[in-house]
Amino acid sequence: MAGSDMKWVSRLIFWFLISSQLWGFSVPNSPLQHNFEGYKNPGDGRAPKQKEDSFPAMHCSRERSRAAWKIVQEYLMPFVEKDRYQLPTSCRLHRDNDIYREQEEHKMHVDINEWQCGYCQKTFYEEKFLDKHFDNRHHHLLNRSHGRCLADLCGALHCDLMIDAKKPKSKCNPAAAARNRHLCESLADSCFPVNKGPSASRLHEFFLRQFCDAHACTGGSKPLSRKIKKKSVFYIAASIITLMLLPLFYSFVYLYQRGLRSGTRELKRITRHDRPKKKPY
Ligand SMILES: [Zn+2]
Repeated sequence: MAGSDMKWVSRLIFWFLISSQLWGFSVPNSPLQHNFEGYKNPGDGRAPKQKEDSFPAMHCSRERSRAAWKIVQEYLMPFVEKDRYQLPTSCRLHRDNDIYREQEEHKMHVDINEWQCGYCQKTFYEEKFLDKHFDNRHHHLLNRSHGRCLADLCGALHCDLMIDAKKPKSKCNPAAAARNRHLCESLADSCFPVNKGPSASRLHEFFLRQFCDAHACTGGSKPLSRKIKKKSVFYIAASIITLMLLPLFYSFVYLYQRGLRSGTRELKRITRHDRPKKKPY
């Protein structure tokens, strides 16, 4: 009897130990759970999981600010640079007046699916996650002073054309068109004051044609119609190859013709030499 009791006690202790070991493993440090967390947060910074700082809401669209910046760079700055004109800091299109410029310049597109933060080197699969990271971790770098939201100028700068070119145009609203035209003209006045010399005056006129004339429900011109075309890499490469091949082609033609001429001379000599002498009658 005592032997079977002992057996039962030892079995009980054994099961207790096993179950406590199991519980001990599974709750705080389960390898299964570890792997699961690793999957969600691989530790290379691709999916930031730590609690981010709280930040005040930003009422300036980063996406639309980016579109406005792109339009200014493509459809205005090449003409401004060509005229060697410096935008005054009072101009809302000046680099310093874009709240997001500093952060955008710390954005690195390393690979097709890899965006890196220039401040802390974390990498993300998509640009929108890096944008979120900037909002959460580096928002203190933003200068929130008034009038620095480029997205507010989108109406004047035709951002919708840049964001969604295929979207069908909504019915023209005369009040909105007049408002955008007014904003557009005030930009022309502050960025290119006509009393600041011939360049400013010329660019003022250009700005009105390029951006403001289209803000009309009837008879408005096409916006962003002028663009300085950059020579493509293909064009430059093709020009270099052509320039390199031209001398080769001419030397080949020259050598070929020379060979042909000497061949004819040889032929003539042979024909003269081998010509049978006329027999005397
Ligand atoms: Zn960062």
